[in-house]
Amino acid sequence: MSINRILTLFIGFLVLFSCENVKESASETSNNTQKVEKSEPTFGIVIHGGAGTILKKNMSDSLEIAYKEKLTEAISVGHEILKNGGTAMEAVTKTINIMENSPLFNAGKGAVFTHEETNELDASVMDGANLNAGAVAGVSRIKNPIDLAVQVMNNSEHVMLSGKGAEVFAETRGIELIDPAYFYTESRFQALQKVKQREIQNATKAVSNQNDPFIKNSKFGTVGCAALDKNGNLAAGTSTGGMTNKRWNRIGDAPIIGAGTYANNATCAVSSTGWGEYFIRGMVAHDISAMMEYKQVSLQEATQEVIQEKLTKLGGTGGVVAIDKDGNVSMDFNTEGMYRAHMNAEGELVLGIYKENQ
Ligand code: ASP
Repeated sequence: MSINRILTLFIGFLVLFSCENVKESASETSNNTQKVEKSEPTFGIVIHGGAGTILKKNMSDSLEIAYKEKLTEAISVGHEILKNGGTAMEAVTKTINIMENSPLFNAGKGAVFTHEETNELDASVMDGANLNAGAVAGVSRIKNPIDLAVQVMNNSEHVMLSGKGAEVFAETRGIELIDPAYFYTESRFQALQKVKQREIQNATKAVSNQNDPFIKNSKFGTVGCAALDKNGNLAAGTSTGGMTNKRWNRIGDAPIIGAGTYANNATCAVSSTGWGEYFIRGMVAHDISAMMEYKQVSLQEATQEVIQEKLTKLGGTGGVVAIDKDGNVSMDFNTEGMYRAHMNAEGELVLGIYKENQ
């Protein structure tokens, strides 16, 4: 065999060998690409529309459908934002806006009445990426208090503003002040009248209002949302009219960071609903995050212990929705029901109202 022929064979072999390698690395690349596609960052969203004595026997079919439709509409808005790469904070606020604008919930339109027959609204937001937070308390001329809470967070050096001052700040941020009559709904007004009548009856019988189940059960309903976005950022928000018949400018847990709302990228995002005084005393939302951080327990274990054990032992009623940094979700409550919904990255929806999931 001539030297030329040997060289040609050798070069041919080299070319063949390198072609094989290219093929292999190409398939490796496509495998990697597939892997990247598969491990596309997860996201998720969870909401509540208040907890309390919500019993199927007291609910008409049409009202149940109305709640389910509104919960689905709200969570779908947030889910779409997250799916398109939007931030957890944007998803939380836009989702809450839908519920604030619906008279079904005790937030924005449909807020409960104070003893003086006015509406005083509370709201807060927290960004888990940097622990920034904003809150407003006792506002009565802000259509969407959650938006004002965001403005406080982003455009003031404060975390919480209240009452008239918060409304003056709102104007500086271009948020329109509305006529308080906007918040009026007949059903909430009648609920206040019933609670007041019951208080008068109790006074004549020397019965405590605090333990009267009728009064306890007619007070609740709040909206909240917690979300995880594709960048791994968590956010939470809560908006409420507070509790029926509240007086003396009472402020609940909803605008209190750590009680009604908490978010930390290292752990989870939480929004609370229920008897606010107990959530403040228990620092419920922060406690869930702290348990995950200090005890290294799962979100499920943390919410279970804080709601079913600590809050219950304290005498508090209500629940939370929460999502952790991996997209795990918890919707835990110790009342008869909690309006709630969860949607994962695949768009699978879980809706619930009563204790048994339906
Ligand atoms: N937590 C709210 C408050 O105490 C009420 C509620 O969630 O229903 O103001």
